[in-house]
Amino acid sequence: METNGTGTTAPLRDVLAAARFAAERHKNQRRKGESAEPYVNHLLEVADLISQATPDPDPIVLMAALLHDVVEDAGVTSAEIAEQFGDAVASMVDEVTDDKSLPKAVRKQKQVEHAPHLSAGAQLIKLADKISNLRGVMHNRPVGWDEPRCREYFEWAKRVISGMRAPNPTLLAEFEAVYSQYRREA
Ligand code: ZN
Repeated sequence: METNGTGTTAPLRDVLAAARFAAERHKNQRRKGESAEPYVNHLLEVADLISQATPDPDPIVLMAALLHDVVEDAGVTSAEIAEQFGDAVASMVDEVTDDKSLPKAVRKQKQVEHAPHLSAGAQLIKLADKISNLRGVMHNRPVGWDEPRCREYFEWAKRVISGMRAPNPTLLAEFEAVYSQYRREA
């Protein structure tokens, strides 16, 4: 019988369980933009971007996409993810999680340096995450961000994505579209 990395035969059930887990753990968190959207909107956007851009979406990647910020932003441990959703999901989340003990500038530089080493699944998540974040900065600017800070964010995201070895073409095209739209408007 075919199974996914969590050892079950019900990938849709696993993906929904991950969505619910993420919604629960991020329930008190809002996006940084002026309209302060619920954080789960970002997670669903990232998972949906991946699902739309891949012909046969991998449930492991979709689960990791839904959970990609729970370690960094919601205090969940990698061990808890492994226990609930399997080692494959946990290690993919680890790949896209910054080490928060490091200063912010170092973390940002590490993302650039790690980009060429990301697995295929982690590249999908990182790319969709950056698309969602750039859309956020462009259409719903984070409170307190001035123009230079927004521009710096776009240029940094571009450096991260440029380092990827095999970015998904559909997502890359969307990233480029958002990036150039910003360049035109800025
Ligand atoms: Zn994110």
